[in-house]
Amino acid sequence: MNKLIFIALLCCIGITEESHCQEKNKKPNVIVIVSDDAGYADFGCYGGKEIPTANIDALAKNGTLFTDAYVSASVCAPSRAGILTGMYQQRFGFEHNISNLPVAPYTQNDVGMDTKIKTIGDQMKYNGYRTIAIGKWHQGDSPAYFPTKRGFDEFYGFVGGHRDFFAYKQGKAPSDLLALYDNDQVVPEKDITYLTDMFTDKAVSYIKDNKEKPFFMYLAYNAVHVPMNAKKELLERFPNITDPGRKAYAAMMTSLDDGVGALVRTLKAEKLYDNTLIIFINDNGAATGNYADNGKLRGLKGSKWEGGIRVAFIMQYPGHIPAGKEYHKMVSALDIMPTAVGAGNRIAGQLSDGKNLIPYIDNGNKKTPHEYLFWRRGIAAAVRNGDWKLIRSGDSNPVLLFNLKEDISESTNLAASYPKIVRKLLSKLETWEKNVDQPHWTSPYGDYNQIMKHRMETQGREMELKYP
Ligand code: CA
Repeated sequence: MNKLIFIALLCCIGITEESHCQEKNKKPNVIVIVSDDAGYADFGCYGGKEIPTANIDALAKNGTLFTDAYVSASVCAPSRAGILTGMYQQRFGFEHNISNLPVAPYTQNDVGMDTKIKTIGDQMKYNGYRTIAIGKWHQGDSPAYFPTKRGFDEFYGFVGGHRDFFAYKQGKAPSDLLALYDNDQVVPEKDITYLTDMFTDKAVSYIKDNKEKPFFMYLAYNAVHVPMNAKKELLERFPNITDPGRKAYAAMMTSLDDGVGALVRTLKAEKLYDNTLIIFINDNGAATGNYADNGKLRGLKGSKWEGGIRVAFIMQYPGHIPAGKEYHKMVSALDIMPTAVGAGNRIAGQLSDGKNLIPYIDNGNKKTPHEYLFWRRGIAAAVRNGDWKLIRSGDSNPVLLFNLKEDISESTNLAASYPKIVRKLLSKLETWEKNVDQPHWTSPYGDYNQIMKHRMETQGREMELKYP
């Protein structure tokens, strides 16, 4: 008999103490932690050796680590739109980062996460949760897109895509988008110490203040996105790293990992640890400019190579998700919303492209959560099915096909050898595209960079830097 079912049975016939039974029946708190632009190979639990990440590793030790986890975009804003909605963000035209380039009939006011779409915050509120968003938002600049209008009771963070981790010297953020907000109040720059720590402190105090009823927390750090602002005392921990950029990155990762540690310690102290589902995900691969390392994965942020879209992804929920397990089937950031809602209810009329992963990872459901995953940002698109991955980037570029099981680094294009597989994957991709919308705004970087980025001869950071 499945151990969990056995414990549940013992519980219900009163063999274990009643308080334990109540604990099991309570809705779990859910915390989604997002990191920004981290390298796939920079976490200890993903094989990183240079930067200790003991607290994030502990989530994997006490939970399940996903080796083949993907975000739905290789840049911040659309990736986060996927996390926040559980839908391919192209369904509502959110294909590119926030820009000033709306596509008619859309206007600048439409540049943001479509207000008709319900967020994970809305879904959790619908299930009786209190909700808070902390950190980077990046889902639209105008007031209609502000987190407290998008399913979150509270917000503590900034609206834009990145900002300094320390206070702006001039005493005021250069724009509203960069200001730190505590709900609708701007936090004076003079009160800003170090952003990663401030987000952690807010998360810790929120847990302490909300322990009586279930809460949902979206904790979206902007670490380790540029600018490379690190705490001096943490830089000193890495005397062996000589490159100053990499050293700063290591120190910034340490602040992020310390934050995860503080969160877990608080959950334990408040006796909420066993009844909290923690999901950790990185929003896209290593960037060209932040000194992050994707290890064996080819390519960087902004591309359809594995280094752009395959990310660190861990789930911990004691007694419900296996501890110390690696799960190798393909999963998606789009699964976060349905997993967070779990056995609860979803708001009617809104589809999801994700799956509740818990029945899959405890082995009850041996099927694969996703037969296919799709990506598109402008001219570049990709699809993965099983071990096969195809990248299509305009008529001037050859179609690329890789067998990821044999060639995780995407070094050998097999398209010419497997024309049937190419035809099948292109056809699936085209069918998927018919069911999503056209971009409601475009990117200032344009098609040319995407075409150049997805050529076999474009290798390494130096070359990718030329094609942002
Ligand atoms: Ca990012």
